[in-house]
Amino acid sequence: MQTLKEIVDFCKFQSFDLNFTRAKAWKEEKEGRVLVGYMPIYFPREIIHAAGGMAVGVFGGGDIKQIIKGDAYYQSYICHIPRSIMELALDKHMDHFDGFIFPSICDVIRNLSGIFKQKKIGKFVKYMDFPQNFLPQIGGVFYQQEMQHVLKYIKEINGVEVTTEALNHSIDLYNKNRQMIDFIYKIRQDFPWRLSIIDVYHIIRAGTVITVEEHNEILEQVCEHIKNDIGVRQDKIKIVISGAFCEQPAMGLIKAIEDAGCYVVDDDYMLGSRMILGDVDATSTNPLEAISNAYIKQSQYSSSIYDIDNPKEYRLAKIVKDRGANGVIFASASFCDPSLLDAPIFQNAFNKMGIRYIAFQYSENINQYKVIKEQVGAFADSIKLWDDEPVLAL
Ligand code: SF4
Repeated sequence: MQTLKEIVDFCKFQSFDLNFTRAKAWKEEKEGRVLVGYMPIYFPREIIHAAGGMAVGVFGGGDIKQIIKGDAYYQSYICHIPRSIMELALDKHMDHFDGFIFPSICDVIRNLSGIFKQKKIGKFVKYMDFPQNFLPQIGGVFYQQEMQHVLKYIKEINGVEVTTEALNHSIDLYNKNRQMIDFIYKIRQDFPWRLSIIDVYHIIRAGTVITVEEHNEILEQVCEHIKNDIGVRQDKIKIVISGAFCEQPAMGLIKAIEDAGCYVVDDDYMLGSRMILGDVDATSTNPLEAISNAYIKQSQYSSSIYDIDNPKEYRLAKIVKDRGANGVIFASASFCDPSLLDAPIFQNAFNKMGIRYIAFQYSENINQYKVIKEQVGAFADSIKLWDDEPVLAL
């Protein structure tokens, strides 16, 4: 078994290898393999796996990739991630990808899919609509048609007709993946000092750019390590991060929040890898229906899902309660409509419920965190000093 440090170092490198070299090497090992890039938030990676491919997460260039050409495609009042994805594409970082999926999350991503089409980037470009109708016979059937559409594109490239057995096998692998990620969060809920949030981030993000089989082996080892009483407990409050589901904060910012006095016990940074709560049925005779049912009935709350019968403010409040968190930090990418439109809904509800929160905005390439760090530090101190509840039962 590797040491935790070795695992984290490997994951950190993979997470920010903007040339996606491991995925490229995997594709070149065997004929017929395809690489499909997908944008945030969520995509059912199982179906690509079953078709002999690999779904690769494209989460922007962070603070690593300098934007020169990408800016020409977007107005100044648009978030940063589409610019850095364009820069990656134009600089040929993704030339070995066969196609691209743009999940329906906002108009910016929709427009980005149009630019990819116009520039003829990849063999196919699919803007994938996810259902906003939660009746299995309406939204569910529609979603299955969307997945079949994707499978048709893959078949045109590698000739693979997916079977029920292959889909169920892939579902099973991703179920194991989600179970182990869930285990890591459960351990951290009570013992957040065993694995820092930045390490968790790297470990989960690496899973979006390597095979699920390899990622499952990594997660198994991580779970074994953090079962042990490792790390040193510090005097920090516990918080939940909400709103950072698409454009990712720079790593320095993720780290700065914890350094400023907060254990992050839940977050939506890599929401797509945790979108389905619990298992997808891996024994169904209609696996696409099983995936669709899981999305309709078992999705995590999200700004991209308008489920009026299941208000997201109560769902986030439940996460805060279940994790024993002291408050919430609303972190939104600048100009991110889905996140910023939801923020007042959460905040009005939390004012009534007495849940403490702060809010700030960031950009993926921001590298000055001093003001945010002071804001987070003051938030943590105010809770430590004046909250009636003992922090972490110290
Ligand atoms: S950061 Fe927000 S606005 Fe920008 S592409 Fe993502 S969801 Fe859309």
